[in-house]
Amino acid sequence: MRLQSFGAACTVTGSMHLLTLDGGRRILIDCGLFQGGGEMEARNHETYPFDPADLDAVILTHAHLDHVGRLPLLVNRGYRGPVYCTPPTAALAETVLLDSARLQVEGYRQDLRRARRQDREHEVLPPLYDEEDVHRALALLRPVLEFGQATDVAGLRVTPGRAGHILGSAYLLLESADGRLIMSGDLGNRKSGLQLDFTPPPQADAVVIETTYANRSHRTWPATLAEFSDALRVSVRAGGKILIPSFAIERSQTILHTLKKLMDCGEVPRIPVFLDSPMAARATRAYFEFGDELVPEVRDALRGGEDPFAPSTLHVVLTGDESQRINRYDGPAVILAGNGMMTGGRIQHHLRHHLWKPGTSLIIVSYQSPGSLGGQIVAGADTGHLNTVKIMGEDIAVRAQVHTIGGFSAHADQDDLLAFLSSTGNPHVWLVHGEVAVMDAFLPELALRGLKGDIVPDRQEVDLLGGGFSGGRPSGLALDDAPPGTRSEAGE
Ligand SMILES: [Zn+2]
Repeated sequence: MRLQSFGAACTVTGSMHLLTLDGGRRILIDCGLFQGGGEMEARNHETYPFDPADLDAVILTHAHLDHVGRLPLLVNRGYRGPVYCTPPTAALAETVLLDSARLQVEGYRQDLRRARRQDREHEVLPPLYDEEDVHRALALLRPVLEFGQATDVAGLRVTPGRAGHILGSAYLLLESADGRLIMSGDLGNRKSGLQLDFTPPPQADAVVIETTYANRSHRTWPATLAEFSDALRVSVRAGGKILIPSFAIERSQTILHTLKKLMDCGEVPRIPVFLDSPMAARATRAYFEFGDELVPEVRDALRGGEDPFAPSTLHVVLTGDESQRINRYDGPAVILAGNGMMTGGRIQHHLRHHLWKPGTSLIIVSYQSPGSLGGQIVAGADTGHLNTVKIMGEDIAVRAQVHTIGGFSAHADQDDLLAFLSSTGNPHVWLVHGEVAVMDAFLPELALRGLKGDIVPDRQEVDLLGGGFSGGRPSGLALDDAPPGTRSEAGE
């Protein structure tokens, strides 16, 4: 069993792992987009040292863009085989990929207009794919993977387990004559949010595990809810708009459900809530369709005909005109809009309208990468001095109160990851989907528990069961050479 990673190796986005089995069968696990701007996103255009037409199968662990976003490109480059996933992942992947195609095409047109004025048209890269390409990729989806049930994929026995990260997320047990391998995909933050906890995985010879937050502990869920509730009450008293930038999948549904609970029990006044994200509204349909997957409280509400994602004051905003009209609404109101890191989307015009007003509150519930608009606002708020940020070409003063709530993360922390590994026996552990510094901090934790661990290098093939690298740790894995990864937008 050999593994070669073309993404999420020594970084957190672009998950794409090529598994080669004895006898030459090749299976691609995930096919995600690199995110985080600049050099990182330029990697989306790179070619692979294999012919996509030669792959036997693709398996998707979950529908986040950094795990599915290069699939239409793979199909453009010749892949015509099956793409296995769970039914909820297929439903969400459609929403995610169509939105991605729209952004690709819009971004391309914008870059082209700008480049024409500077006579640099030839430098603009074409969009990775369009809506038509997405439909071709969606036609290959085989949503037949069910938790706990084995499926034959190109002669390999594949059993998905509940990963508890987002709706439909799975880790994979892959069994063949070569051995037993677990690919973790992204693992969930236990005892939090809408998803049931991950199920303990079985024993394996090797585990490839994500390490996004392998060096830290999350705040407990009750503490996070208390912190969120406090921030909301303070914000309502401040009297202005309460802006909550949010990812369309999982985070928006979690925040809506939490707002409903806090308002229903009287902890937070019933002020209007605007969900200004058509993508989040579309994604929420999948939560209804697959409600049995969710924590009992939400599942039972859905079975009883309730809408657990709709506070009584909810307005779902669909058109751009409606979105603009919210700014004319007087008095306090919650505005939930994308995108989560404020790098684009409707949240930007709300920020431009309200960030400079002292009565406004900005409640941050998602990871903000340092270079993003959200990252700049948080960094400025931490200094305590008035700062100014550029939004849609305009300098805007940050006078709003900024509240940062860290505990809504959908990723496992160090305790969760160690708990996941605790039932797997004595496998060789391979680390992916993390910054090198974080993985370096995790390796001693594995050693303490008698587990042999290694970092999966970028693009270099490793023998998963042979263990270790022939010739020692590959060059390029020294801390100084680590690629400048940023945490994923959709993958937070
Ligand atoms: Zn994810």
